Amino acid sequence: MGSEAAWGRMPFHFWSVTAFVVGCVTGSFLNVCIHRLPRGESIVSPPSHCPHCGRRIPWHLNLPLISWLALRGHCAWCRAPISPRYFVVELITGLAFLGVWLRFGAADPAAAAVWAVFLAGLIAATFIDVEHFIIPDRITLGGAAAGFLFSFFVPAVQGTSSSVEAMTRSLVGAAAGAGSLYLVLRGGKLLFGRKRLRFEAPLWILFGRRGLHLPEESAAYEDLLYRGNDRIRAPEAQVELEDRCLLRAEVRAGLKGKEVRELPSFPQGGSEASSASAGREEALFALRLRLEEGPLIWARCKELILPREVMGLGDVKFLAAIGAFTGWQGALFAIMASALIGSAAGLAAVALGRRQWSAQIPYGPYLAAAAALWIFAGPQIAARWLGM
Ligand SMILES: [Zn+2]
Repeated sequence: MGSEAAWGRMPFHFWSVTAFVVGCVTGSFLNVCIHRLPRGESIVSPPSHCPHCGRRIPWHLNLPLISWLALRGHCAWCRAPISPRYFVVELITGLAFLGVWLRFGAADPAAAAVWAVFLAGLIAATFIDVEHFIIPDRITLGGAAAGFLFSFFVPAVQGTSSSVEAMTRSLVGAAAGAGSLYLVLRGGKLLFGRKRLRFEAPLWILFGRRGLHLPEESAAYEDLLYRGNDRIRAPEAQVELEDRCLLRAEVRAGLKGKEVRELPSFPQGGSEASSASAGREEALFALRLRLEEGPLIWARCKELILPREVMGLGDVKFLAAIGAFTGWQGALFAIMASALIGSAAGLAAVALGRRQWSAQIPYGPYLAAAAALWIFAGPQIAARWLGM
């Protein structure tokens, strides 16, 4: 074939440099997607403009990597700072394209191109998820459709030479990925569903009308409670009510469900003296939060257990896209490896003191990192896991 002869005539590393440059240009486009997709704006028009002063950015000031460095991260007109994210995304995409070229280019340039597109999608999803805690359908569902189509045209990415077989593997991969992550999401409260906060000394916590207040920080209930049956728990708390004080009570507070105030059966005259002398008074509170008249209670406790939603439906759709490109093996690898990467990152963040107790954690970046790992070394790592 003539075209293959033409490939061969240029030195291999001419194409390596080309891959890096094309990657940087693609990264520049991804920056537009990252900014506009979650805002529901068109990614083709209007042309690039400074979000601060609205001035249009001419092509010679919109060169990947170079322009950001030359302008030292500022708009040429109004000098408003431009996020380093623009530079970082261009660099990462350039390196990603270079990486797939070096890894797959010699054997199969078409497969290298498909993996480059896949990595570009992972990069866009990661940066959107970090900023907005969502992954747009155009990336997840669009990515699943793209994986299915690419499998038809380049069946080698599914490890076969038959287009029909490759499309079947793509469909099975999307279904296996979305299906198993959905099961993890539903059943996963056991694994990921709790965050336990232990305080060195008992703290007074206010269960307010709209949110939870600790001495140093506050969080709105809607940032802590995601599902109907989610509860904030204080297992052993001293509770101050309008009319009495309980020395040991378990507080369970949620947005829905019926309100229960199981008070102890022994004398409850409301006198604090008798409660104090009883000493072992126990009670269970199920509070409905955000009622009109509100429960507004103070609880003093050493421990607080928060529900934690690590994943959302966006991640399920994201894994359908990953599976459509990688097949079911890559999808399952992404679930397991992302859990490991996520735990390691979580521990590191806590150790560095970077994470606030109420911080929302996007899961998409861990899935993206695991999927990227799969392309470069996944089958080898999986073989080693299974061999153990
Ligand atoms: Zn400007």
